[in-house]
Amino acid sequence: PRRRVLLLAGGQSEEHEVSLSSARSVLAALPQDRFEVTAVVISKQGRWLPPAETAQALGAGAAESGGEPMLQRVSDTAGYDVVFPLLHGPMGEDGTVQGLLTLAGLPFVGSGVLGSSVGMDKIMTKRVLEAAGIPQVAWREASRAEWRRDPQGVQSRAAELGFPLFVKPANMGSSVGVSRVTGAGELAEALELAFGHDRRVIVEAAAGAKPREVEVGILGNDDPVASPVGELRFDTDFYDYDTKYTGGRAEMLIPAPLPEGVSERIQELALRAYQALDCAGLSRVDFFYVEETGELLLNEINTMPGFTTTSMYPSLLQAHGLSYPELVTRLIELALEER
Ligand code: ATP
Ligand code: MG
Ligand code: MG
Ligand code: MG
Repeated sequence: PRRRVLLLAGGQSEEHEVSLSSARSVLAALPQDRFEVTAVVISKQGRWLPPAETAQALGAGAAESGGEPMLQRVSDTAGYDVVFPLLHGPMGEDGTVQGLLTLAGLPFVGSGVLGSSVGMDKIMTKRVLEAAGIPQVAWREASRAEWRRDPQGVQSRAAELGFPLFVKPANMGSSVGVSRVTGAGELAEALELAFGHDRRVIVEAAAGAKPREVEVGILGNDDPVASPVGELRFDTDFYDYDTKYTGGRAEMLIPAPLPEGVSERIQELALRAYQALDCAGLSRVDFFYVEETGELLLNEINTMPGFTTTSMYPSLLQAHGLSYPELVTRLIELALEER
């Protein structure tokens, strides 16, 4: 019998549109002889859209409003065997939806509550990976309350890292709210922007002057495997939203042309991070390779990475020997695996 799959897409975060593009690719690729798929788009207001509005939103690429409260709709999900929460960012990739599905007794693709929430939060990720001995850039944190009370104190603590530095909301993706700051005069604006997205902000030392950005795909539950390493090349100062999503701005190299042994180190560190964070199903682990020093620094983990047919994660797994339809099939099998 065909497995009944519920595909969740859209969601409340600023990566709503990115999620809908990913979902369109998955819907087109899920083998129809094996899966009976129902998509539900979650509007930016966090409500679950009925079938006709879901179809319309998938076509339009966004749903600003509409739908029903999700606690009402989740009781309808008893008719599904497995859920694919193809949601990026807060309220989707951060353990919230994963908690709801766990309570509803529904297996789902990807990490559970713990891996999702810690992986989404750049401050908590840094702490856990520090304990696991994984190399990362120097960093500082600040809360919004502190920023309101003592903006000078927050800025001087950030400036200890030297310039350039990066200011980011602790929980976000697609580079939303991320700034590259080249001097003390730009700090306040960058912090204000980041605090507009999150109650907690991380400030990071730059990984060298212009690090190479290399990424690896991890697939599996208790015995995960690492894909070949890929690299992103682009002309902008950093990999910002426009560079990510404007066609032709960034180039993907798979495998990444790296000196002997570097890819193996990346794969080994990524697998260690994946297990330290209790991830499951899939993740894309991103690194900086500082060519001048040979330093390898883990930047972040994405527990539900971009998933269009041309996105980095599926391309990395393609290089590992899994076609896009094979990959989504495997992810659903992993979700249904006894753990
Ligand atoms: P994603 O869309 O991959 O989830 P994100 O929003 O979580 O991204 P980051 O990957 O943390 O954001 O940062 C976005 C980009 O900013 C990086 O790809 C890189 O180009 C640049 N960047 C971030 N932190 C640093 C750093 N410490 N040193 C150098 N460059 C950095
Ligand atoms: Mg990220
Ligand atoms: Mg992300
Ligand atoms: Mg990133």
